Amino acid sequence: KPLTWDAGMTLGLDFGGTLSKIVFFEPKEVPGYANPLADFLLKRTTYGHSGERDTHLSFYSEKLGGRLHFISFETSRTHGAIQLLKKLEGHNIRRVHATGGGAYKFSQLIKDELGIRLLKQDELETVVRGIIFTLLEHPNSECYSYEANLDDLNESAREGRHHGVSHDALSYEMRRVPRPMPVESGSFFPLLVVNIGSGVSIINVTSPSSFKRVSGTAVGGATYYGLCKLLCRCDGFKEAMDLAELGDSRDVNLTVQDIYGGSYELAGLSGEITASFFGKAAAARGRVRTKRSRKRRYVSYLERLSLVIIALLVANLLVGSYVSFTAGSFDLRDLILVLLPGGMAYLVFWSTEAKMTSSHPPDDRPPAADPPLHSMRGPTDKATLFEEADIARALVVMVAQNVTQIAFLNARLHKSKRVLFTGNFLRHNRIALRALSSMMQNWSRGSIQALFMEHEGYFGAIGTFLYSID
Ligand code: ADP
Repeated sequence: KPLTWDAGMTLGLDFGGTLSKIVFFEPKEVPGYANPLADFLLKRTTYGHSGERDTHLSFYSEKLGGRLHFISFETSRTHGAIQLLKKLEGHNIRRVHATGGGAYKFSQLIKDELGIRLLKQDELETVVRGIIFTLLEHPNSECYSYEANLDDLNESAREGRHHGVSHDALSYEMRRVPRPMPVESGSFFPLLVVNIGSGVSIINVTSPSSFKRVSGTAVGGATYYGLCKLLCRCDGFKEAMDLAELGDSRDVNLTVQDIYGGSYELAGLSGEITASFFGKAAAARGRVRTKRSRKRRYVSYLERLSLVIIALLVANLLVGSYVSFTAGSFDLRDLILVLLPGGMAYLVFWSTEAKMTSSHPPDDRPPAADPPLHSMRGPTDKATLFEEADIARALVVMVAQNVTQIAFLNARLHKSKRVLFTGNFLRHNRIALRALSSMMQNWSRGSIQALFMEHEGYFGAIGTFLYSID
């Protein structure tokens, strides 16, 4: 059934606790510019303070005869979004299918301000519907997993590490592997969907039309982000994730080795396993304080130093050339002698900075070197300092580990061999993807697979949009 703008039903909205997601449809026969709202959305990729269009996720659907676009913005900015929309005359939207808490909370406001009626849909139903639709559209490329190198796994089995998970579950190489998903085949269900949004919902899906929320936890994405904001002075999610990439959680967590001085052989726990998240901060004598990441500061010192060197060399070059010109003794070798160290200083700065600030280091990053066994320091009157990057990393792993444990137990309970992790906590979050995968692999001894999807946080909005073509 062809979709038209005039129907005013070409959007799907998901107003979440932290992020609001919009899916909008651009029919093939009706170019985007024909509608003022579509025209506005397609002409840019960022909107207001927090809105952004995920252009890499957009796809053409043969089945629907048009292109789907994906936008998210912070739910706390909804009032701003309404004002923005108010300025766009003639978009013809009179009713829109919507889900999430905001579909109720903002319903009256949107009706009063924009004259748009929100048709409320159930959150779980839309997520499941969105997942199945997206998998049917891209059976071979939507779903993926993170797999450990088999040799590393065997080694970890030999060391008895199956009983727990090493310090932050990233001690062996993992790589991303596409997982074709034959949804239509009988073996696809049962499937456990673990949606990690602001909080976490666990849904047992036994067929496209039969599913039930079986569990959940309030320790979710907003817990991580909130604590990160409180403790690590960061105010963007991506910034928080980049910071976590620089950290080493062993500097704040208490490991088995910190308590036993080695492995706890009797229980089969290797020394590397986290015994208590943030245990080192709890055990520190005296006050505890946070400090900016060592690596972050290193970059900025180096940056300043290189700039001073470059400025001095440029000044030298200018004065030197002027003097030799006026004296009539200008020599190209003088110029090279002055330029060379300047260029080298710049290169050192550039390469170090690129390495330090890279948000996505290669997947095969070697494990971090062992930190000192007892890095807590200082007499009682001195504050013990913990680095923000280490705290950020420990927070991600803490949330991921907690979610995996609940997911694993539910998968066992509901006899599910596949656990599909979705939700925007996984956005820009390679640490969580790898931690979730390796923990699931370890605890289930490979019998339960952790899976992820490209459109991780958009399924509620996709499912909601699909109601407009029913
Ligand atoms: P909800 O529907 O509850 O808002 P989402 O699936 O959208 O849930 O996930 C929200 C979580 O995603 C946040 O708590 C945070 O951990 C993470 N997140 C990812 N990107 C952002 C962002 N740009 N701003 C805020 N949180 C983000």
